Amino acid sequence: MTDRPAAASFDDDGGVLGGLEPNQVRVRFPPSPTGLLTVGNIRSALFNWAFARHYGGKLVLRIEDTDQSRNTPEALQYTLESLRWLGLNWDEGPEVGGEFGPYLQSERMDLYADVVTKLLDAGKAYHCYCSQEELDQRREAARTAGQHSGYDGHCRNLTEEQIQAYVDEGRRPVVRLRMPDRPIVFDDLVRGEITFLPENLGDYVLVRANGYPLYPLVNPVDDALMEITHVLRGEDLLPSTPRQIALYEALAEIGIGNGRTPRFGHLPFVMGEGNKKLSKRDPGSGLGEYMERGFLPEGLLNYLALLGWSIAEDRDVFTMDEMIEAFDIRKVNANAARFDPKKCEAINAAHMRLLPADEFAQRMIPFLAKAGVLPVEPSADQLAVLRAAVPLVQERMNTLSESVDMLGFLFVDEAAFALDPDAAAKVLTGDAGAVLEASAKALTDVEWTTEAIEAALREALIDGLGLKPKNAFGPVRVAISGRRISPPLFESLELLGREKSLHRLNQARAE
Ligand code: GLU
Ligand code: ZN
Repeated sequence: MTDRPAAASFDDDGGVLGGLEPNQVRVRFPPSPTGLLTVGNIRSALFNWAFARHYGGKLVLRIEDTDQSRNTPEALQYTLESLRWLGLNWDEGPEVGGEFGPYLQSERMDLYADVVTKLLDAGKAYHCYCSQEELDQRREAARTAGQHSGYDGHCRNLTEEQIQAYVDEGRRPVVRLRMPDRPIVFDDLVRGEITFLPENLGDYVLVRANGYPLYPLVNPVDDALMEITHVLRGEDLLPSTPRQIALYEALAEIGIGNGRTPRFGHLPFVMGEGNKKLSKRDPGSGLGEYMERGFLPEGLLNYLALLGWSIAEDRDVFTMDEMIEAFDIRKVNANAARFDPKKCEAINAAHMRLLPADEFAQRMIPFLAKAGVLPVEPSADQLAVLRAAVPLVQERMNTLSESVDMLGFLFVDEAAFALDPDAAAKVLTGDAGAVLEASAKALTDVEWTTEAIEAALREALIDGLGLKPKNAFGPVRVAISGRRISPPLFESLELLGREKSLHRLNQARAE
């Protein structure tokens, strides 16, 4: 995956750029490092990345770690490693720096405090002294009366005396944003024009009574300070957007940021089993699983791109360079996308087939090493066997971890080689002993090439013993690979070598 400015023409940007030069595009990926990345997070990161790369703009990685009780340094490290593994590189953020840092929100607390002071001074925000009980009571009363039940603006215009009275009672206020008394309308890049009415948008809390700045404050403040031009994120965040737009406008009025409200695009929900929103707890939702199973990052990303976007009607498989070239946020579908684990695997398998053989061999090594089949740095002989095995397995594997079952028999020590008991019980029965004996005999002096091995076995087992191919070759396969499913048999024998092959045929006879 390379970073190159796209060659596409932007003459017809359909208003996406809103008058900016393409390379002025600044998008962000703002994970909260509270756990592992999910496919939903990654899809958001991918769409922002593709958008930035398409226009030759910048992707900012910002870590939303203000909630110290929920964030761990390990989770942050893992987030960074995951993005590196995926190849979703960022232009500004942790490890790379940039002129809008720091990029960890936990290091920006003073900035937020300063912004809040300015908002309060300008009357854009105000202190609210209502207790939780009071809020609950009034909300309940409003509901009973059939009125809107958001914050009722009780503390919007307190007098000095009222404030003093609350302070004397020992109350500690939260800070609320003063929402404008008019509809908030914006043109969503995915969903078109969206209108929120003021009666549904109560003044919301920016800062807790203990001084803790909340997501609805810090997220747009950083977008403003970091001069983010486009916010592409999941539809679950849509309800917070009108409030954030009101905050951008308030910030612009007091000279914070560059005065531009970013354009928004809300990416469709990802649905899992039973047509419910894919949740963190669903199998298949966490990135770790894909890394362990040996998905290729390009395969996983290709599949995730299909959750809301497509490159062409009749085409599912594409490279990240092709995605960058073609990516158009206006072509993202607003309808919920269904996460289909089978399709995800099939797309990955398609990318496995696209790899050059040497690279395919290299990519299998960590999985074979982790399973103890090969050393982390295989010998030249082991590499040669592995490389020669690629054409036998590349078309048959969906994920890299399958290499352990597929190819383990080629590398394992004779002492550690064992037959799968189930395969042995099913296949090494009846006249299997005679088959193995005849095979060993036929292979003792034959020239050690695939063709000669095949000819010798056919002659001995099919012509000689009069067996059907399945009954003839099944026992040989189990004897030499330990399994009922292996790469093609004659090639496997050739790669395994005469000595080991004969040894295993004789061993299996003895079982
Ligand atoms: N930290 C937020 C999250 O991970 C960011 C959401 C956003 O993109 O605004 O959900
Ligand atoms: Zn209040």
